[in-house]
Amino acid sequence: MSKPSKVGYHSLMALSEDSISDFYHLDSKLTPKELVLRDTVANWVAESFMPRVSEYWEAGDLPRSIAPELGSLGVFGSGLEGYGGEALSPRATGAIMRELERGDSGLRTFASVQSSLAMNAISFFGTQAQKDAWLSGMRSGEKLGCFALSEPEYGSNPGGMETLATRDGAGWTLNGRKKWIGNGDIADVAVVWAKTVAGDPSSIRGFLVETSLPGFESRLMSGKMSLRCARTAELSFDQISLPADALMENSPSGLSGPLACLNEARYGIAWGMVGASEACLQEVRDYVLVRESFEKPLAGFQLVQDKLAEMLTLTTHSHVLVDRLSELKAAGGNLSDQISLAKYSNVDNARRVAALGRELLGGVGILLEHCPLRHLINLESVATYEGTRDIHRLVLGRRITGMQAFR
Ligand SMILES: Cc1cc2nc3c(=O)[nH]c(=O)nc-3n(C[C@H](O)[C@H](O)[C@H](O)COP(=O)(O)OP(=O)(O)OC[C@H]3O[C@@H](n4cnc5c(N)ncnc54)[C@H](O)[C@@H]3O)c2cc1C
Repeated sequence: MSKPSKVGYHSLMALSEDSISDFYHLDSKLTPKELVLRDTVANWVAESFMPRVSEYWEAGDLPRSIAPELGSLGVFGSGLEGYGGEALSPRATGAIMRELERGDSGLRTFASVQSSLAMNAISFFGTQAQKDAWLSGMRSGEKLGCFALSEPEYGSNPGGMETLATRDGAGWTLNGRKKWIGNGDIADVAVVWAKTVAGDPSSIRGFLVETSLPGFESRLMSGKMSLRCARTAELSFDQISLPADALMENSPSGLSGPLACLNEARYGIAWGMVGASEACLQEVRDYVLVRESFEKPLAGFQLVQDKLAEMLTLTTHSHVLVDRLSELKAAGGNLSDQISLAKYSNVDNARRVAALGRELLGGVGILLEHCPLRHLINLESVATYEGTRDIHRLVLGRRITGMQAFR
């Protein structure tokens, strides 16, 4: 292993010769075509995104102009056949999320919202006309979608939502509010989950709401200390007149529709955690090899190696878990509990890896030019959205005992 010539850079770990990623050689399961795609995304992240990440972080923004860049890489609609692309395997989809999150959780979130949440909702539940209207443009990044489930008073318990779509002749009238909506202020279309009977969670259906409609308001949320490279908005719907064809006719009544999309996004998050962990480990390994203390490199001290070993172990555990999950997903079936386990435990692992990484960097670890603290702060959001750690453990508790403890 050669000694790196500089520190503090975001190296392209997936391609580096002395890589300490993929410790159990799982990437050998990617096909040659999938490897090319993975490396194309990895290259773009390293060469095009990383030089901009500090600027985005300081501005608290990830501009809409990034969408066509991501679209041209083929990261949107990866599970979708047709509409300008072909379906990728679950492992290849995960590998893309891993590379995006190696850059920043905000970047992977942008892709998750567009692809796993909004495009999958349209693909799973939309009419043919809705698919034709939106999916090709969303795949290229020309059109942007958001996924509006959470409300100011209802996050972990979305079934309590107050947003209501009532029949109005052949169409609908939509009223309500949503909070924490990724890309909500820059989207062209919002996938809005609303009750069609007030107070009845079993009446929840999905609607495609064009954001240019009168009565649709969005407000960018400010003051976020986490996930700063991401736009998060509050939405309000004031007597919006929706045409009859705004309803996603194939959306089942109740929460199973949004939960099916959330499962896809959680799967991507679990993969993303491998990338965030690898970024921290790589940068810190490079640093401790050249940073000296008491006249020798930090890398030579036992306590430092113990932390590095812990970082590699947790990263490898996360990778092995999602690799197996990708095989189960390819085989089909309901994996929501397995996805819950992978989502929360891989976020746990990545948080620990990022915290150890930040510690090993000493003072410079608080500077934006080093990635572990940025990842650690981002992971506060990732641990919360798409189901908190508590909720996923309660899902597993229900699986183990047959008793539901979160209600
Ligand atoms: C950066 C960011 C982006 C987001 N993007 C989106 C988006 O694009 N679309 C969208 O719809 N939503 C989005 N969300 C919302 C997110 O899904 C919710 O924040 C999340 O579901 C938690 O809801 P809450 O914030 O209301 O917390 P609460 O539900 O109020 O929970 C607060 C605390 O109580 C705990 N808790 C809650 N219920 C129980 C229980 N039954 N038992 C034990 N503990 C419990 C939770 O684990 C948590 O620790 C986003 C959130 C963030 C922070």
